[in-house]
Amino acid sequence: MIEFKKVNKTYSDGTEAVKDFSLHIEEGEIVTLIGPSGCGKTTTMKMVNRLIEPTLGEIYINNKNIKKYNIHELRWNIGYVLQQIALFPHMTIGENISVVPEMKKWKRKDVDKRAEELLQMVGLDPSTFKKRMPQELSGGQQQRIGVIRALAADPDIILMDEPFSALDPISREQLQDDIRKLQKEIKKTILFVTHDIDEAMALGDKVCLMKGGEIVQIDTPQNLILHP
Ligand code: ADP
Ligand code: ADP
Repeated sequence: MIEFKKVNKTYSDGTEAVKDFSLHIEEGEIVTLIGPSGCGKTTTMKMVNRLIEPTLGEIYINNKNIKKYNIHELRWNIGYVLQQIALFPHMTIGENISVVPEMKKWKRKDVDKRAEELLQMVGLDPSTFKKRMPQELSGGQQQRIGVIRALAADPDIILMDEPFSALDPISREQLQDDIRKLQKEIKKTILFVTHDIDEAMALGDKVCLMKGGEIVQIDTPQNLILHP
């Protein structure tokens, strides 16, 4: 689980990016964070893995204050998927997926097995794709690798910052399906940032609407009241 308790972030130039932000994301739940550009979504997300420190307030992961974790331990337990996925260009797809499990000193055969399982889960045949280089994949396929790479070492928490926004609508829908499928099988706690309301509604167990650094509404997609 992730819990934000009255979190504020004011940047050194005085910009109040996040104000009095409280949010509880249960284990296995997907919360989508939506709002206009500049409303504080990325700042909120980056505070979870301590790329940004809150000015005020506390954040808990699995009931433990994130400041109490060793930073590596914290980040290893968080998969992070960005819009600009950066696969390592000189490594095969199999090697790309295996980076974090290897850092965690998983056994070779467990690393290989995991890479194959994940490729299969997103519909990419391991015998074809493990050996390929990133540039031999389409944008959508690369993005899928970015997603499963974040899952490879079995983190409890996944942060996704507009992971599909650079993709065409079809790849995008495919990836949304992948996320739903993955979520059914492996039940991760996911914070998903998007500025696409359809995506937010399609993926979120709860949708959190932000404006000017504050939560203006949080509810299930069915109950959310939209003011166009
Ligand atoms: P109610 O609890 O009467 O159904 P609320 O507006 O309090 O209505 O909450 C609607 C849903 O959103 C509930 O599932 C609640 O747990 C959740 N919720 C409300 N506020 C927050 C928040 N700040 N962080 C996380 N979840 C919230
Ligand atoms: P979003 O992800 O919703 O687009 P951000 O979290 O990136 O929003 O930004 C929230 C606000 O904080 C914006 O006004 C942005 O200009 C500002 N901001 C972001 N990063 C910095 C920074 N390093 N220094 C000062 N202001 C920043």
